[in-house]
Amino acid sequence: MKKSFLLLLACLAIAPAWAQKPRPDAFPPADEGIAPKSLTMATTLDEMYQWNRYPTYEVYVEMMNHFVETYPDLCRLDTIGTSLRGRLILCLAMTGTDDNDIYRPEFFYSSTMHGDEITGFYFMLRLCDTLLASYGTSPEITNLLDRTRIYINPNANPDGTYAGGNSSVSRSMRYNANYVDLNRNYPDPFGSASLDTLQRENQAMINYVSQHRFELSANLHGGSEVMNYPWDSFTSRERRHEHADWWEAVSKRYVDTCRQHSRSIFTDVNSQGYIEGGDWYVISNGRQDYMNYYQHCHELTMEVSSDKKLASERLQGYWNIQGDALINYIKEIHSLSDTLPPDTTSSDTTHVGIPQLSTLNSQLSVYPNPTRGEAFITTREGIRRIDLSDRPAGVYILRVDGIPVKVIKL
Ligand SMILES: [Zn+2]
Repeated sequence: MKKSFLLLLACLAIAPAWAQKPRPDAFPPADEGIAPKSLTMATTLDEMYQWNRYPTYEVYVEMMNHFVETYPDLCRLDTIGTSLRGRLILCLAMTGTDDNDIYRPEFFYSSTMHGDEITGFYFMLRLCDTLLASYGTSPEITNLLDRTRIYINPNANPDGTYAGGNSSVSRSMRYNANYVDLNRNYPDPFGSASLDTLQRENQAMINYVSQHRFELSANLHGGSEVMNYPWDSFTSRERRHEHADWWEAVSKRYVDTCRQHSRSIFTDVNSQGYIEGGDWYVISNGRQDYMNYYQHCHELTMEVSSDKKLASERLQGYWNIQGDALINYIKEIHSLSDTLPPDTTSSDTTHVGIPQLSTLNSQLSVYPNPTRGEAFITTREGIRRIDLSDRPAGVYILRVDGIPVKVIKL
């Protein structure tokens, strides 16, 4: 373990210059910092509920609290952390009230780590409202919430979004208040960001995701329309993700759902609307690869609108195209453990403090012996032994009495 840690440090020190090359969406648009034609702001909750405006910072925070006040049985509000300027990085945690189901996998949406890519910010607020308001009336949404813990962080970089002040998004910018690109600031498999350089917003995010067992997630961006799946650090010829076939199928389902409403959506990068990240453009130190490699989560990057600062009168239309697809993507979590083979490419996670062996169900007790490749799990029916001694090191999702258990063999 120590040797691999030193190797990791060595890699960090000699990261190649190309690793810093930005993805195309890194280049600021010509009108960066200048208000496009229409970025109308909602200055009250009532105005925001018309869903044709962006929220002021105060309305955003008010709306997140309003969800909890209106649906106290369905959600709670977490504070992931605070930004450099002291703004809140919030996450709404939602689940249904049916307590018969003993295991609920954790799903995570996070948007707008690039502060000027604000379509996803609006999407996430609208998604929270849709899920909560539909519980108990829509069998589909009710079932989804009863089977899943859904976490939604609408804005991971509020200082960037409100760089021009809390009452406007017209001067929103990509970076945080230190002018650092947060999507080039995560530890990655062969990256160059040491823990010392981690920005406050990303440290908070890492702490938060480390406290959870997110199995499926997405981070939302703008500037293009494409589903960007792992890896970002490598082209598919260099290192194809073990679950690339699954990623392509999931991405295609998202795009197909959107194209039922608009045939021209997700066509500005390629005709199919999805691409392996490195095949589009290699980056390092992005969040997607961090989540996949270190957190053993399945995360992809959704570029949801070609226009980063979508004119406010177009927000409704974009939601009508993508709302169903955003909900359907959450459902994919329930096919994850059943359909995928063990992911043996992830790190052993020792460096970031994840327990070597964890249960996804807090009602199970797990006693690990990871170096021998075995574990003992206490279930309602008694103690079960899991034997991985003849399997290679890696991360395994096993079914114990139908319940997924994540086992990491060193
Ligand atoms: Zn972005």
